[in-house]
Amino acid sequence: MDNKPLIAITGASSGIGEAVARAFSEAGHPLLLMARRLDRLEALDLPRTVLRKVDVRDRASLAAAVRDAEAEHGPVDLMFANAGIARLGDIATQPPEEWDEMIDINTKGVMNSVHAVLAGMVERKQGTLVMMSSIAGRKVYPDHTVYCGTKFFVHAVSESLRAYLAPHNVRVVVVSPGIVDTEVLDHVNDLQTLENYKSNKAAIGGGISADIVAGLILDAYALPQRAIVQEIVITPTQQT
Ligand code: NDP
Repeated sequence: MDNKPLIAITGASSGIGEAVARAFSEAGHPLLLMARRLDRLEALDLPRTVLRKVDVRDRASLAAAVRDAEAEHGPVDLMFANAGIARLGDIATQPPEEWDEMIDINTKGVMNSVHAVLAGMVERKQGTLVMMSSIAGRKVYPDHTVYCGTKFFVHAVSESLRAYLAPHNVRVVVVSPGIVDTEVLDHVNDLQTLENYKSNKAAIGGGISADIVAGLILDAYALPQRAIVQEIVITPTQQT
């Protein structure tokens, strides 16, 4: 158990990131957990864990957190670039600042997360990048315009990275969930969009648990390094 490799997770303070942190901790891995709400990371109370208050938009602080955790627990073997925000809304009336925030966190934040571990993984010819996209990175919805843009970005970057990293024996797994019960809706300020989302969610019998997503990521990671699950698409059964 002691020599299981280090797992790094952005956005580990709630939702899917928190569930993935618990799953990998249960499996005996040391963890680097990052988010802005340090109190929520501390409340997880998981063993052999480095906690860092990191905003993924801050490339230097993300890289410093990785360096600190690696000094303690050895190289990061999995980076879960998960932190993201969904400010869904009517594109004609949505304040552009909401686009800026989504673009910065969901695209540049993901690139900052990758950048912090990429060179090390290439050098070691070992590692796994788990890239958080969405079903909204595969299909579009009228009130998800910029959010969809950020998640299509994650898909495109992931496919390019997978092609680049294949000869280096590094895996790139894209995660594309449908509706998962988390705090994601807390960031939607457009009340009509929120209402529509909630009624669509109720009509399909609700979202799935973040633990289901975490279990799939754990299973994908557990495969031998020479085998890759390229994409995990997981939705409520009634979501189309
Ligand atoms: P939550 O809101 O519960 O979790 C989001 C996490 O991202 C939090 O830990 C939050 O931490 C972190 N985060 C947000 N902004 C930043 C930032 N600037 N720097 C660092 N961390 C940040 O929602 P989910 O668990 O649902 O979301 C996780 C990912 O899953 C997102 O990328 C989302 O787009 C994606 N997703 C979610 C789906 C769903 O239905 N729930 C469906 C498909 C994809 P903190 O605020 O403490 O910084």
